[in-house]
Amino acid sequence: MKKQYDVLIVGSGAAGLYAAIQFPPQVEVLLLSKRELTLSNSSLAQGGVAAVLDLQNDAYALHVQDTLTAGKSKNNVQAVEVLVQEGPGDVLRLKEIGVDFDREADGTLQKTLEAGHSRHRIVHHKDSTGKAIVDTLLAEVKRHPNVTICENTLLYSLEKREGGFVAGLLMPDGSSRLTSARFCLLATGGIGRVYQYTTNSAIATGDGITLAHRLGAKIRHLSWIQFHPTAFAAENDRERFLISEAVRGEGAVLLNCDGERFAEKYDPRGELAPRDVVSNAIILESRFKHSEKFYLDITHKGAAFVKNRFPMIYENCLKEKIDITTQWIPVFPCQHYLMGGIDVDLYARTSIDRLYAAGECSHTGVHGANRLASNSLLEALVFSRRAAEDILKRLQEDPSADIGEFPDSEDLSGAPLPHGHRTEIRRLIQDCHFVIPEPDKVPESLQRIREILDDLETGGYEVNRDFVEARSLATVAAIILEEVMEEHDAE
Ligand SMILES: Cc1cc2nc3c(=O)[nH]c(=O)nc-3n(C[C@H](O)[C@H](O)[C@H](O)COP(=O)(O)OP(=O)(O)OC[C@H]3O[C@@H](n4cnc5c(N)ncnc54)[C@H](O)[C@@H]3O)c2cc1C
Repeated sequence: MKKQYDVLIVGSGAAGLYAAIQFPPQVEVLLLSKRELTLSNSSLAQGGVAAVLDLQNDAYALHVQDTLTAGKSKNNVQAVEVLVQEGPGDVLRLKEIGVDFDREADGTLQKTLEAGHSRHRIVHHKDSTGKAIVDTLLAEVKRHPNVTICENTLLYSLEKREGGFVAGLLMPDGSSRLTSARFCLLATGGIGRVYQYTTNSAIATGDGITLAHRLGAKIRHLSWIQFHPTAFAAENDRERFLISEAVRGEGAVLLNCDGERFAEKYDPRGELAPRDVVSNAIILESRFKHSEKFYLDITHKGAAFVKNRFPMIYENCLKEKIDITTQWIPVFPCQHYLMGGIDVDLYARTSIDRLYAAGECSHTGVHGANRLASNSLLEALVFSRRAAEDILKRLQEDPSADIGEFPDSEDLSGAPLPHGHRTEIRRLIQDCHFVIPEPDKVPESLQRIREILDDLETGGYEVNRDFVEARSLATVAAIILEEVMEEHDAE
C-alpha cells in the first residue's frame, strides 16, 4: 500500500466498483472492502435494474412520474431526471462489459414489471441480478492496474486535510495503517444492521455515514427507511431472505393467516402497490387478525416457470423446507433500504470539500420518501459515475497535492468492548421505528442510545471491527431518532 493515492473509494458494491472503472490509468485509486469483496447489499439484489430502454413502449416521463409517485413527491426532481435520462446509458455499459442480462428470443433485453412501475422496464439476470453485476464489475476492475484493491480492510477514521484526507485503515491482521488520498468517495452502503430484522448484508452498519457525520457532513432523512413487505419469515435469522417484488410482479398473491387475499382492502393496487403501502397493509391486517402469519402464493404459475424465473428464491426456500411450486411462502415485512444518507448534490459532492458519497449511503433525493423498486442499483451506477467524472475533472484542473505529514500507523489498543450494546440498539430501533412508528417510545430510546454512544466514545475501547461497527450503529440510531423527534415536535 502506498502513502498517497489520488482517490480513495470505500466500498466494493455496485457504487464503488462502477466508480473505480471510470478512472484512466494515470489516476491511482485505492478501493476498500471491509469484508470479502462480494459481501454487500449489491450482491444480494435480486429483481433487477429499472431503465427506460424501449422508447416505443416506455418514456422517460413515465419513469420519472412512477419514481415521484412512489416517493410521495418528496423527491429531488432534478436528481430524478438525471437518474432516468442517464441511467439507460449506464445499464447498456454494464451489458457491454459483460453483465449477462436475460434476453428475449429475438436477443433484446427482457424487461419485467415490478410494483409501482407503469411499464415493463426492469432488466435482470434471473433472480440474482446483483451478483451478476458485482461479479462482472469486479472482473473489470481487476483489469485496471491503477486500482489497488484491499479486501478485509476497514476504514475506521477519516481526517480532513486541506489537500485531501488521511485515512485510518484496520488491516486484515487487526493492525493499523494510515494512508492518504486527495479525494474520497464513500460507497459504504446502508444501515440495515441497526434493525433486529433486515434483508441487508452484514456490512450494512452505516460506517460511511458515521465517518461523514464525524467530519461535519450534512446528513439528511436518515429516518426514511423502506421496509420490504415480503421477506421470508424465518424464525431466528437476523438477515432475512428477500422474496423479490418480481414474484408479485409475475402474479403471486398475498394471503393472510386464513388464506384470504387482503391487499386490495387497503389499496386498489393490491399486491402491486408500492412497498410502503403493502407493508402497511400487512401490519394493519396483522392487527385486524391478531396474527403475524402471512403468505405469498405463486403455486398457480406452474413449477417449470417458477423454477426457471426464480431459481435462487426456489432453492433458498427449499433449504427452509418450503417448495414454492406447491406451498405458500411465509413472509413478513422487515428493514430493507435507506432512502436518506449523506447529503449530496447532482455530482455526488457532499458538504465537505473533496468528499463524495454514492449508492445507498448517500442522499441524492431521487427516492423521496419511498424508493421505487429497482431504482437503487440505477442510482448507485449513475451517481458513482458522476462522482468519478467530477473528481477526474478536479484532478486535471489541479494536479498538485499537499496532504502534509502523518505517521504510518497508530495505536489501536484499549479495553475490551462490553457485550450487548449492539443487541440493545437493534431492539430499541425495531421497537420504535418500524413500519408503523411509535413516536411515544422515541425519547426514552434516544436517551439510552446516547448513553451507549457516550460510553463508546469515552470508554477507551480497543479499535477493532466490533467497536467501529457498534459506534456506527449507535451514531446512526441516534441520528434517526433525533430526526423523528424533530419531525414530531414540528407537527
Ligand atoms: C436483498 C436485497 C435485494 C435488493 N434488490 C434490489 C434490486 O433488485 N434492485 C435494486 O435496484 N436494488 C436492490 N436492492 C438495493 C441495492 O442492492 C442496494 O441499495 C445497492 O446495491 C447498494 O449498493 P452500494 O454500492 O451503495 O452498497 P453495497 O453494495 O452494500 O456495498 C457497500 C460496500 O461498502 C463496504 N464498506 C462498508 N463500510 C466499510 C468500511 N468501514 N470500510 C471499508 N469498506 C466498507 C462494504 O464492505 C461493501 O463492499 C436490494 C437490496 C437487498 C438487501
